[in-house]
Amino acid sequence: AAKDNGRNSYEFYSQLLSDKANKEEQLKLSLESAIENNDFCVVYQPIVSLKNKSVTKFEVLIRWNMHGKWVSPVDFIPTAEKFGLISKIGDLVLNLACTELCKLRKMGFSDIVFNVNRSIYEFSSGVNDISWLDTIKKYDLNPESICFELTESVLAPENDRCITLLNKLQSAGCTIALDDFGTGYSSLNYLRRFPIDTLKIDRGFISEMTKVEGDKVLVSAIISMAKALGISVVAEGVELKQEVDILVSLGCDYIQGYYFSKPLAPELLSQYLTDFEYGNQ
Ligand code: C2E
Ligand code: MG
Ligand code: MG
Ligand code: MG
Repeated sequence: AAKDNGRNSYEFYSQLLSDKANKEEQLKLSLESAIENNDFCVVYQPIVSLKNKSVTKFEVLIRWNMHGKWVSPVDFIPTAEKFGLISKIGDLVLNLACTELCKLRKMGFSDIVFNVNRSIYEFSSGVNDISWLDTIKKYDLNPESICFELTESVLAPENDRCITLLNKLQSAGCTIALDDFGTGYSSLNYLRRFPIDTLKIDRGFISEMTKVEGDKVLVSAIISMAKALGISVVAEGVELKQEVDILVSLGCDYIQGYYFSKPLAPELLSQYLTDFEYGNQ
């Protein structure tokens, strides 16, 4: 009986695994056709400069319309990374962002920077040779207009090639931000090895900062460390006035979060920039 039980639970487990594998295979196929059919769009979340008291950047965030149902990037980016589809998605997002940035330029918003997420996996997977700069030039934009946010949802094999590519982007004028700082597999190691201009403190630290003294100490330490390294700091996921006040007192450079705005549809950007008044939230 014990043997039977063992086998049953083994079968149960392997069934679970194959369900999971099937689901992932299904998602991969859907993603491939979504890329083919261009079923993606992007939204833009304002990033507020505490020094200028104005919106100087936006983060570009992907949205997938799967037959009328919106799928969150957290549910498909890891699969895209796993099956080598992430570069195509990244290119698609960069093109959408450049198109929108050109429109804003024409309307006179000349200094706005767009932050585009790119998976660290892309740099080490060896498929692309940074055509990203060509894309930016194709739209006649300055590389200074684009910041690449390095995200990580799987542990990427870190290599020298990755550092070479990042240096190339940075010397052309693009800036590099390290996303979700403090939660990744190797945040500190990336900080040490990669040419980083900006560090984004993960939302998890910010939301606990007002409740857990230790988290406030960590946020304070991250800001001090960044300052000592000459790196600017963005706090992510800021929702409360109380959080803004603490971040101001700690000398944080930028704030992003629902407190100022949720991600916006492209057609709302120019109006948002025109209407923005710091302190009116
Ligand atoms: P992320 O790059 O850290 O982006 C910030 C996420 O936090 C966004 O979720 C944003 O909508 C959400 N957020 C912003 N402010 C607040 C807040 O005040 N409260 C709360 N609760 N959430 C807030 P989103 O758009 O669902 O994106 C999730 C993640 O998916 C991103 O995290 C990023 O890692 C990834 N992602 C999104 N777009 C792309 C893309 O184009 N390429 C790649 N490789 N990854 C992307
Ligand atoms: Mg990001
Ligand atoms: Mg982030
Ligand atoms: Mg995040």
